[in-house]
Amino acid sequence: MTDKVQVTHLNKDFGDNHVIRDVSLTVKPNEVVVIIGPSGSGKSTFLRTLNRLEDPTSGSIVIDGIDISQPNANINQVRENIGMVFQHFNLFNNLSVAQNIMLAPQEIKHLATDEAASETKRLLKIVGLEEKFNATVQSLSGGQQQRVAIARALAMNPDIMLFDEPTSALDPEMVGDVLQVMKKLAQQGMTMIVVTHEMGFAKEVADRVLFFDDGQILEEGTPTAIFDHPQNPRLQEFLNKVL
Ligand code: ADP
Ligand code: MG
Repeated sequence: MTDKVQVTHLNKDFGDNHVIRDVSLTVKPNEVVVIIGPSGSGKSTFLRTLNRLEDPTSGSIVIDGIDISQPNANINQVRENIGMVFQHFNLFNNLSVAQNIMLAPQEIKHLATDEAASETKRLLKIVGLEEKFNATVQSLSGGQQQRVAIARALAMNPDIMLFDEPTSALDPEMVGDVLQVMKKLAQQGMTMIVVTHEMGFAKEVADRVLFFDDGQILEEGTPTAIFDHPQNPRLQEFLNKVL
């Protein structure tokens, strides 16, 4: 099977800040990879580089067989295939829930309105918000907004989903619903890369956990290996703080 994501010797500098240091990573179809690590270790930059929200300084990124690190790569086509969910939902507050979800499919895929609407209903069902079709974004809780953001990302029918701390900005009682939706996506076979501090989710859902520190993958393994038998002292120290 072709790898979904193949990152080779990736480096990213911001000026003289060497943020991603020679990272290589392969993600297989249907795999759920969870990235953990301290603040400032380059996790967000790494995710953002995967869909060229940031340009790599060197190294290659191949998504579905397409090398997006080439200057002439068709980035928009690749991005359509990668859904991204951010910590701060980034919804359009002046649009309704349905309008948020239908916008990209209508603009980019030229989906007819009735088709987009029925697809939106299907997606809202997946995230447990069927009754919010016409709701305004402001009327929703943070957890509901994040689930709309997930539905919006799914609307482009991506085959890879990137999540950057999707529950970090939520009140504790909202976190479970969002994680539940993510778990369902994983069970349905979505290829996912998830940056999170939710160690329970990582243990339960991840096929593989990566420990990022100082722009490098210091350790990777199954959840059992990472959480029960951490090898690197930096990982042991990190887990002592967060568990
Ligand atoms: P994490 O997500 O693990 O907290 P980040 O990827 O956000 O880490 O940040 C890693 C480093 O990169 C930090 O030192 C941060 O200041 C720097 N950085 C991130 N984005 C930018 C940017 N757009 N311009 C300059 N420096 C940045
Ligand atoms: Mg981050």
